[in-house]
Amino acid sequence: MSDVPCERGIILSGTGGVWQARVEGTAGTIRDVTLRGRLKQTRGDVRKLTVGDWVVLEEDVRGGMWTVTEIQPRVSQLARREPGRKHGERIVVANVDQVLIVFAAANPEPHLRMLDRFLVIAEGNKLHARIVINKIELVGEPVARARFADYTAAGYHVHFTSVLHRLGLTELHDALAGRMSVLSGPSGVGKSSLLNAMYPGLNLRVGEISLSVNKGRHTTVGALLHPLPDAGYVADTPGLREVGLWGLPPAHLDACFPEFRRYLNGCRFGDCSHQREPECAVSAAVSAGAIAPERYQSYVKLHSELTETERLRETHGR
Ligand code: GDP
Ligand code: ZN
Repeated sequence: MSDVPCERGIILSGTGGVWQARVEGTAGTIRDVTLRGRLKQTRGDVRKLTVGDWVVLEEDVRGGMWTVTEIQPRVSQLARREPGRKHGERIVVANVDQVLIVFAAANPEPHLRMLDRFLVIAEGNKLHARIVINKIELVGEPVARARFADYTAAGYHVHFTSVLHRLGLTELHDALAGRMSVLSGPSGVGKSSLLNAMYPGLNLRVGEISLSVNKGRHTTVGALLHPLPDAGYVADTPGLREVGLWGLPPAHLDACFPEFRRYLNGCRFGDCSHQREPECAVSAAVSAGAIAPERYQSYVKLHSELTETERLRETHGR
């Protein structure tokens, strides 16, 4: 047996050269670490180190320096597909347990088609999504619940919160505990306020704020993990909007709407786009009121967008 000191940790930040790893089983020791040369040379995105990776660390024989000797298998990832690249995928965060999509009940007015787009990005990455509707005191909880009933019906867990009136914060706090969460949503909806209300003193930044910080650097999408007091992590990412929908085949879009899934085997054609085809179970469910027309409209809009993207890519021979 080797007597080289060895630890397990999670990568909190870093871009290339030096990474910051938080050591498991300590009171939060953070070490600057580098990738061991041999690991570094392994080709392919899978073996590249990413924020959120669980790693094995070893102390250099000379002492003082710690290197990553092993990247443990990822259970999930938020990836940005980059159309111009051959192996066009850039992993933004690894081991994400859930995506929290935050909107305000008012001020700014919620843009539901944008919410649908964010949900599809989460579903496209096979990530569990929760919706948070903040500022509910502005419209009252019953109005907020009615407005987002389509999402509860689709199977999403919707949290209704108010930082101002301290509503729904305990339930949201419980949902974040022990998990790695990505927070996303338009600016001004109260993401920072929510985190600061639940974790006073942490002074977290989220979403678009870090994007502006990153602008001067060469990284296109950089992420940062904030350890929470109750064993969870919040990923400070540039947000789902920047991750985008690139590369999602239009034929996979229907499965990104959870309330469509039970109908997908009922269409006459296996490759039904659920728009003009006869005997389409999805269109029938819309007519019968089982699928919300607005959600279906989002599907149609995103479908044409993805079809157009695919067509352009084929024209350009990629
Ligand atoms: P972020 O851009 O999503 O991080 O949003 P911020 O946390 O910066 O909040 C934007 C604005 O909304 C600030 O002026 C907050 O004080 C305000 N705000 C946050 N939560 C609530 C809330 O529950 N009710 C109301 N009325 N305003 C809120
Ligand atoms: Zn169909």
